[in-house]
Amino acid sequence: MKKTKGRCKFCGTDVTLNLFDPGRQWFSEKWLVDMAACNRCADFMEKRRGIHENVRRLVVQWSRHTSGAKPEDLREPLQGHRKVLKDGLTAMMKDWLATMNEYFKTNIAWDESVMNLLLDKNTNVNTVLLQCERMLRQETPVAALRVGRAVFPIQ
Ligand SMILES: [Zn+2]
Repeated sequence: MKKTKGRCKFCGTDVTLNLFDPGRQWFSEKWLVDMAACNRCADFMEKRRGIHENVRRLVVQWSRHTSGAKPEDLREPLQGHRKVLKDGLTAMMKDWLATMNEYFKTNIAWDESVMNLLLDKNTNVNTVLLQCERMLRQETPVAALRVGRAVFPIQ
């Protein structure tokens, strides 16, 4: 094992890397150093990936449940299954926002209209989530995390 210094590829914080021999065998040291992420960013990326996955799954369930429904059905108050799905998705999106606000050190308030974007028939969930994230990244006081600086994975 070898210790080396690097910088987090997301926020630029100094990190100490423990390069283990199996990794050094397969990847160049430069590649491993370039891939370095601090614990805060690594934890955030993992949580973000999990939430995105869950949101995508729920939106798919939603569209399965509502496709084939007549327009007049959709105007009725949400009941039963649909309400459960929508409530679940709303809770998940609030959790997403709390996670984002914590990481980006922002204080963006919850906006119910994001639910209309997510539940639109022609929606692309990734696009909606990344657009919302872009808005937060424009507000962040952490310069290194602003739009145009760090590149975040699309997941
Ligand atoms: Zn970091």
